[in-house]
Amino acid sequence: MTSNNVDIIIRGAGLSGISLLLALIEQGYSGSVLVVEKRAEPETQKTWCFWGEENISSSLHHLIKRHWFSWSFSGDGQEYHHCTQSSEHAYCCLQAEDFYQYAFEKLKGLPTIEWLWNTDSELIDTVDANANANANANANANNVELALKGRRVSASFGFDSACGISLPEGNTINQYFVGAWVKTSPQSFNAKKVALMSNMTADESCFEFTYILPFNSDYALIELTRFSMRYESLADMQSACEDIVNSGDYGNDVVIEKWEKGVLPMDTRIAPVKEGNWNCIGARGSMIRASSGYAFLTIQRWAQKTAQSLCSENKLSLAKPISPIYSALDSLFLKVMRKNMALSPTLFSSMAKNVNAVVFARFMTEKATFSDVLSIIKAMPIRPFVKALFTPEH
Ligand SMILES: Cc1cc2nc3c(=O)[nH]c(=O)nc-3n(C[C@H](O)[C@H](O)[C@H](O)COP(=O)(O)OP(=O)(O)OC[C@H]3O[C@@H](n4cnc5c(N)ncnc54)[C@H](O)[C@@H]3O)c2cc1C
Repeated sequence: MTSNNVDIIIRGAGLSGISLLLALIEQGYSGSVLVVEKRAEPETQKTWCFWGEENISSSLHHLIKRHWFSWSFSGDGQEYHHCTQSSEHAYCCLQAEDFYQYAFEKLKGLPTIEWLWNTDSELIDTVDANANANANANANANNVELALKGRRVSASFGFDSACGISLPEGNTINQYFVGAWVKTSPQSFNAKKVALMSNMTADESCFEFTYILPFNSDYALIELTRFSMRYESLADMQSACEDIVNSGDYGNDVVIEKWEKGVLPMDTRIAPVKEGNWNCIGARGSMIRASSGYAFLTIQRWAQKTAQSLCSENKLSLAKPISPIYSALDSLFLKVMRKNMALSPTLFSSMAKNVNAVVFARFMTEKATFSDVLSIIKAMPIRPFVKALFTPEH
């Protein structure tokens, strides 16, 4: 067995791992990095949406495929529209395929980066003092080790997007989604408006809606989404999504080009399982905004901050990826949902009706002002929130 030492190990070449690596290289990091990924290539069947182009590094702006200045919510025969004029609050979208292609073009051939694809690895908790002699000289280093086939690698810092998570006792909500990219007849979609939550319905354990991302009037992602406390089968959801696609509402010659799907935890009480000095990152490192499932912006912000503190001081930034005020608000909101799932369409409709596009976009991007937060709280029905504040979880 051989052993060697690098400055940074990144386990998982997904969004969080590659975003950190890009930010490090853009900010002039000169240390050595080992990237270990269990897949043979990145997972590209994903579309990442977020509010506000200005919220991501300018080097990624050219990857944004579309901007929308209008979005809507509907359920129970009511529809609420949000419109904005400014790109600062527009809904933007980029595709995983374009992101990874850009990243690998930029990172390929750099002598400081070693890539191991298709590679199983195991985190090692204990640190071999000899192997880490260099790393130990740095007081800020974390010191981690990774076992690969026939090789042990130690590093000053380790980032792991494949770590485990511990679930809280009792009910938790997961977000299940299955989306079809469809090509259909012209004028089947309003290409100017995203249907963020359409046809909202709920029972006592599941809230369901359809999300429609129209790239053109004849091309869109139609996604069936469930925030659910029970197990949902993605295969059954795919059939249900096919029924929606073929309902006739989106033209009669609909062709499904590809699918994208996933399950994301929605709970501020889910904690990453910390292995030794490894830093859990990405979806498994609590970088998902619990009330919505959005993680792209949080990951970009975290990557920039972490790269900055590693480049300038060779230490980690202590800032939390999601600010505690948003975690507290999300925690209360999700507690209300867990106790009153059937009320979910009313909660989201109240927010859509009583809050404007700019306030909503600022809240979704963690840029809300004090008065924005107050107006969101005021928009909600008061009784379930007061009750949730004063009653324990069952
Ligand atoms: C289909 C889909 C659409 C989404 N859309 C949005 C969106 O529109 N907006 C938004 O903000 N968020 C969105 N999200 C949420 C979030 O942005 C993504 O899940 C994002 O990819 C999370 O990044 P990550 O690095 O945590 O995980 P990933 O990108 O999945 O990366 C983790 C990597 O670790 C690798 N890995 C796993 N185990 C090991 C191991 N043992 N050793 C080595 N490598 C390993 C995996 O193969 C993977 O490449 C979406 C999620 C999904 C699934």
